[in-house]
Amino acid sequence: MIDMNSKGKIRDWRGKKISSLGLAKSYKSIADKMKPEYEARGVHSRYKKVRRKIKNKMGEVTGIFISDEPMGLYDRDGNRVVNYEKRAENMKFCGSFLKFAEMYEKLKLIKANFCRVPLCPMCQWRKSMRVFWDTSKIMRSVEKRYPNYIPVFLTLTVRNCSVEDLSNNLDNIFNAWDTFMHSKTLRPLVEGKREYIIKGWFRALEITYNDKTDTFHPHFHSIMLVDKNYFKGKDYMHTEDWVKLWRKSAKLDYDPVCDIRRTKTTKGKREEVAEVAKYTYKDAEVLNKKLSDDKKDEIVKSLSGAIHGRRLYAYGGVMKEIAAELKVDADKADLVKVNDDNINPALAKMILIYHWNMGVSNYTLSKKIELVEERAGKRDA
Ligand SMILES: [Zn+2]
Repeated sequence: MIDMNSKGKIRDWRGKKISSLGLAKSYKSIADKMKPEYEARGVHSRYKKVRRKIKNKMGEVTGIFISDEPMGLYDRDGNRVVNYEKRAENMKFCGSFLKFAEMYEKLKLIKANFCRVPLCPMCQWRKSMRVFWDTSKIMRSVEKRYPNYIPVFLTLTVRNCSVEDLSNNLDNIFNAWDTFMHSKTLRPLVEGKREYIIKGWFRALEITYNDKTDTFHPHFHSIMLVDKNYFKGKDYMHTEDWVKLWRKSAKLDYDPVCDIRRTKTTKGKREEVAEVAKYTYKDAEVLNKKLSDDKKDEIVKSLSGAIHGRRLYAYGGVMKEIAAELKVDADKADLVKVNDDNINPALAKMILIYHWNMGVSNYTLSKKIELVEERAGKRDA
């Protein structure tokens, strides 16, 4: 199976699948380790009653049935807990089925089973492509609608934290983001009225892991839109001003590292957008390093708990408005269609179905459907 992107680079489906299997193994191991604790906390499944209509072939409702549908795991006190067992199971089968349409010697994914577990390497890879595509579309729209708005790329960091402190650290930087965006510095008085310097923004959370110090490094990558007059005006902020504001917003007792840059070329912009859209967490940082299985499990558990229920990608201001118009929602985005390639599956010559083969640890072709002859046949008839 050779799937290439628009630049001719081969998409590493096998590599991602192997990473997902590796992480699934870790989730399974965490599930086993959590068993005594979950038992002690009285963890149980909750179900809700769902009424469903029974329809006949004509689409007429012929009856109603009530089913019990799972809502997840809860402890005795009603707190929802992570179902590691289920995540492991879902991730194990992620991307095990891929259906492509082939046209002009290129493949276009038209169907797949993705697990959508937040840390899944396969799903994160697809999501990053999708976020890049969506954000590029939004940026194109901004350029047309607000030609005076210019993107600047801002990275906001805090010092590394220990593995067990990640969740608290994320609480802090997510709160700090809101404080930062609503600060008076970024809403100066213009003719007696507060006006936002940042007209629109997009931010993504990235967490890296340092195996030498056994610490996490959570930080935000963001795109900020400012009016072009900002660069000449009195409200212009130098790097040290961004540092000062982020330090105050995150209540830090040191000067954090902040990086601000303006990219003039289109290529530079594309690269910066790709930087912002990249994965929350790179699987290679844990799976490919020489760490004990217990250490891997500890890192995966801390990460999955810490990012649970958080918005990892978000838009604000005019970018949020355009995202709503374009119906962009990073959390719910379809992971099958992730780019602009104009291959129309209806005109494809061939449909190829691949399955993951555990035995050979690779994808194997399980079905090939030629479409051309069927169409030609119809024409002849
Ligand atoms: Zn997945």
